[in-house]
Amino acid sequence: CGIIARIGSDDAADSLLTGLENLEYRGYDSAGIAVQNGSGVKVHKTSGEVSDLKSKLNYLPSGNAGIGHTRWSTHGPPTEENAHPHTDSAGDVAVVHNGVIDNYEELRTELSAKGHVFQSDTDTEVIPHLIDEYRSEMSTEEAVRHAVDTLEGSYAIAAIVDGEDRVYAARKGSPLVLGLGADEWYLASDVPAFLDYTDEVIYLEDGDVVVLDPESYEITDLGGEAVNRDVDTVDWDP
Ligand code: GLU
Repeated sequence: CGIIARIGSDDAADSLLTGLENLEYRGYDSAGIAVQNGSGVKVHKTSGEVSDLKSKLNYLPSGNAGIGHTRWSTHGPPTEENAHPHTDSAGDVAVVHNGVIDNYEELRTELSAKGHVFQSDTDTEVIPHLIDEYRSEMSTEEAVRHAVDTLEGSYAIAAIVDGEDRVYAARKGSPLVLGLGADEWYLASDVPAFLDYTDEVIYLEDGDVVVLDPESYEITDLGGEAVNRDVDTVDWDP
């Protein structure tokens, strides 16, 4: 029910957890984060509260690109396996998702026939597997675009990929806002997630695909054409 992502030159985990705490007002039943630091994607998740996730982490995982999620279950009970982030079979692509994927059953059948191994009951899990499947034939950016184009339903997603100093994101029917910090970028379902760090925001629209690296952000449409969105300054207190 809440998404957060962050990329910068320093570690993401602390701001991701703060972001999830700031999204607690939206309600949720499970929480998780994943970070990427060039030596694998590390996923930490739990059923229960962000405080449970924090107490499970006896150290903060290092990695400058990360994603986080608070889940409000729609497909599958609130277990640790069903908590986000979800990954592909090899654990190279990690995804957080808000919304509902209407065609997940048919996608799951197709992907399973191609050898993908599923670990949860969620509709969400088809997304990292789809990105992984398409990534064998095209760039990750194209694979993300192709994957979200294949989805029916509603989504705001954020993804990280092993060995890539990037965060990918897209939305249709679920909210997603980009936060422009001094030395880092954020993505979240709602502004309070990162208002401790920046009040410069871009409200993304349906069909937008975002690629963040530590130095730049790029917003395109599903066809890959650049999209210009206004930067707003949020004038309310956290
Ligand atoms: N449909 C997804 C799930 O049940 C995402 C739910 C959400 O938006 O939190 O895991």
